[in-house]
Amino acid sequence: MKHLLEMRAEQLTAELESLDEAVYRAAQILEWVYHKGVCDVTQMTNLPADLCGRLAGQLSILTGRVIARCDALDGVIKLLIEWPDGERVETVLIPDRDRATACVSTQVGCAMQCTFCASGMDGLTRNLTCGEIVEQVLHLQLEGQRHVTNVVFMGMGEPLANYDETVAAVRAMIDPKRLGISARRVTVSTVGLPKQIRRLAAEDLPITLAISLHGATDALRQRLVPKAARSPLKDILAAARVFYGSRKREVTLEYVLLAGLNDTPQCAETLAEVAHSLRCNVNLIPYNPVTSLPDHKPDATAVADFAAWLRHRQVNVNIRRPRGLEADAACGQLRKRNAQHHWRRLLL
Ligand code: SAH
Repeated sequence: MKHLLEMRAEQLTAELESLDEAVYRAAQILEWVYHKGVCDVTQMTNLPADLCGRLAGQLSILTGRVIARCDALDGVIKLLIEWPDGERVETVLIPDRDRATACVSTQVGCAMQCTFCASGMDGLTRNLTCGEIVEQVLHLQLEGQRHVTNVVFMGMGEPLANYDETVAAVRAMIDPKRLGISARRVTVSTVGLPKQIRRLAAEDLPITLAISLHGATDALRQRLVPKAARSPLKDILAAARVFYGSRKREVTLEYVLLAGLNDTPQCAETLAEVAHSLRCNVNLIPYNPVTSLPDHKPDATAVADFAAWLRHRQVNVNIRRPRGLEADAACGQLRKRNAQHHWRRLLL
């Protein structure tokens, strides 16, 4: 069985040629899957019945099953998808007026084990394939009944630790023959792996790079993101400058605000210095509490103060509005809860 979502358009064309079928059928199939959201070949009404029959036995499209869905009051939809091997990942749709952002996972679990994040609590189980990453967008479109316009690689896992599959998935997302999302609307978020950032800078991909800094000194990063802190900050920042130099796309620095840990005026001051050393925007993310981890949720004043200190130092700051809290929207939380049977299963 071949997996359509792992294939480039030319590979599907070659597949149809090998079946003695007209090559324009490839475009029809891609249109059904990526634009009309029809993932069952037998429902592709402009294909001849015998082709549908043959394809149904040779080509799989969706391999995962949505086993739980959670709808937050603000329209955020979070899905738990189970793959044939029983492993599960989360994926989230964040709707806004004129856009719908898919937040996709790239790994089952995560090896980075950042201290405040639910995804890495049990370590890394396995990488997702390109098809499994792209498939999340298709499930979100089907469940949310709207077209995904933006993608952020901010679900479970470290995208750049699964480099080849992540890049292949980005290519599928921006390919006009497949999902056709503008590259400018795709953001890859990394905990900061300098070698892979440089590699990404050399790809022909005008996407946005987000770096999860969370601390502007090596000492602070060692406390908050100990595994990622094996790469010194100066190497990460040098790689970020290379990315800016080749792509001319401003880098986003993500900073999860953890009360009492990284929210002091001194932290803001060092962050401002780092921010001035490259072309970037800072995204402040108020910590979203994770059950079983210590609570460091900052109050609204602390968040506003931290942003004001940065703005005073002419740093471009954006405070990420908490969305879908009811949907356990922070990294890895739905899967954890589901495992603990605290979760209302809507679909099984
Ligand atoms: N591994 C990638 C993608 C992870 S998730 C990375 O580190 O960038 C995307 C963002 O959500 C990261 O910045 C991550 O640190 C943050 N995050 C994880 N858990 C969180 C929580 N409980 N509250 C707020 N943000 C969280």
